[in-house]
Amino acid sequence: MSKRHILGSAGWLCGRRPRTAIQSIGLRASCVCVLVAWSQVRAPTDARAAELVVLDPGHGGHLSGAQNADGVEEKTIVLAIALAARRALAADGYRVVLTRNDDRHVELADRIDLANRKGAAAFVSIHGNFSPVSSRRGVETYVLSAAASDETSLTLAHLENEGEVFDRIVDEDAFGGGAVDRDQADLRFILSDLVRMNAHQESGALALNVQDSVGRLDGFGPSRGLRQAPFRVLKGARMAAVLVEVGYLSNKRQGAFLATQNAQNAAGTAIARGVGRFLRAR
Ligand SMILES: [Zn+2]
Repeated sequence: MSKRHILGSAGWLCGRRPRTAIQSIGLRASCVCVLVAWSQVRAPTDARAAELVVLDPGHGGHLSGAQNADGVEEKTIVLAIALAARRALAADGYRVVLTRNDDRHVELADRIDLANRKGAAAFVSIHGNFSPVSSRRGVETYVLSAAASDETSLTLAHLENEGEVFDRIVDEDAFGGGAVDRDQADLRFILSDLVRMNAHQESGALALNVQDSVGRLDGFGPSRGLRQAPFRVLKGARMAAVLVEVGYLSNKRQGAFLATQNAQNAAGTAIARGVGRFLRAR
């Protein structure tokens, strides 16, 4: 079985929307098995030194994202996590570029454009989650999709898109059936992205590795699994591109935890570990 075939299979598995929680767990386990099996047979490579990772701390400038109960802003937390991830990746020999190194506004389209222009092998957008359900906590990793996995994912995509929303989300079944949507321009936009099947499949594998790595950390869980939603910042990616929500700022306990330097360093290191695992398996 070729390397491409294995990765393709993993991406295909990961790219499907799980219908139930049990299926989600099974799907995740399948993906882990495929990737673990591959990592055990891969040949050593020194090519990773040339590989570039683009890390994207969400929001910035006048857009602060969510807040925890103490008013600590998402943009501050995710920047610290991205800096920690950069340190860990650089220590492993990867080249790393951040879409922002400080508290400034960067357009969503410019973030992925930077990764495309520089020929990045992986793009990770880092965010903190928010929910009106204050008990909700845990880690989620997203890949781009025209349709959201569920209502929660769709609501989140609208929040993270900062007004640059896809106005109307098409039903997933429209992919095969050519269903008509009110906003055909958005549909064409999204479908043109999904034609880049290689990037889409690799995104599934990257999402799996990042989710598995961050989701098992103390204080971050539970792992809420892989999801899909129409995130503007992932649109147009020509490489593996994911968005990770490292935890819920709206949860009092998890929100306070995420504001600590220990948690930020742990999240950054875990993201780097997941990215590294993905890149070595390519
Ligand atoms: Zn965010």
